[in-house]
Amino acid sequence: EEQRNDKIPATLIAGDGIGPEVTKATVAVLDALGAPFEWDERKAGMSAVNDGGDPLPSATLDSIRRTRLALKGPLTTPVGGGFRSVNVRLREEFKLYANLRPAKTIIPGRYDNIDIVLVRENIEGLYVAHEHFIPVGNDPRAVAVSTGVNTRDGCRRIARFAFEYAVSHGRKKITIVHKANVLKALTGIFLEAAREVATEYAGRVEVDDRIVDACAMQLVLNPSQFDMLLCTNLFGDILSDELAGLVGGLGLAPGANIGEHAAIFEAVHGSAPDIAGKGVANPVSLMLAAGLMLEHVGRADLAGRLRQAISVTLLEDQVRTRDLGGTAGTDAFTAALIRRL
Ligand code: ATP
Ligand code: MG
Repeated sequence: EEQRNDKIPATLIAGDGIGPEVTKATVAVLDALGAPFEWDERKAGMSAVNDGGDPLPSATLDSIRRTRLALKGPLTTPVGGGFRSVNVRLREEFKLYANLRPAKTIIPGRYDNIDIVLVRENIEGLYVAHEHFIPVGNDPRAVAVSTGVNTRDGCRRIARFAFEYAVSHGRKKITIVHKANVLKALTGIFLEAAREVATEYAGRVEVDDRIVDACAMQLVLNPSQFDMLLCTNLFGDILSDELAGLVGGLGLAPGANIGEHAAIFEAVHGSAPDIAGKGVANPVSLMLAAGLMLEHVGRADLAGRLRQAISVTLLEDQVRTRDLGGTAGTDAFTAALIRRL
């Protein structure tokens, strides 16, 4: 009980666009829940550029190095100027090799019972993006070349993460997603390593595999056949957005980036500049991400209460933001949720 009262230091990055609005709402809800986090607020993205020129200031990196835990709003990477994606830099810096994207129906829509967890390899594959052009004749960019890199160690590491997650969360089956019929080396090694790791979990977690295109189609036709998906970087990127679509869109999709040196929790959506500052953003994605963060620090009890309150507010109280067909603003939704907590 004593340990439960200890504060857990965590970095808070409000981010760009609707980031500050949904972050403020999420922190208010976590306070109401009695969550143990002690926030160290830092900047990244455009707000950091406006402040000191650097989209990922060293003070922010130092904070995450210290806390090893962050809740992050969406970040805008400045276009041009040689800026690399801040999100990609964070993944590389902290070796956040696992991207976790649970998709669970809250509001029944096209489907009423989706419950799928996607695990995406986060730092290898085609995202390594070693790209170049080859000139032909007078066209300096006549041919484009991109190189993907998957290492056996990296494939084993993400597979082990997925199987460990399955065991600790009572999941029954993992589907390995690949394109080993065409990208025989790049995704063949992934399939091979994942099957090898799977043998260590025989009898505990079932395993099968799908070619990515067939998997995309089957997710729409018959999603209930899937329990967990284990994907390479690019395929995971695409299928996780498809999953978000199956459960009602970007306003309800959380993500976690987990690595050896830190874990960063975020909404799947971007900074939504079209609605920024208007007080209408849906904060549920970031709140669900905060739920994953609570689970990560061993407070599944609080995560469960949070998810339950979100569900009751949306379904029984029928308080919803505009993107979900309601009329509530961010603050009104948050107040209704806090009443339920
Ligand atoms: P970025 O460049 O930061 O990725 P974007 O506009 O490309 O931004 P998103 O921010 O993901 O992409 O937004 C896509 C659409 O979904 C926009 O119309 C946006 O208003 C809407 N949207 C995204 N997140 C939310 C949210 N939390 N609440 C309501 N609408 C949202
Ligand atoms: Mg976007």
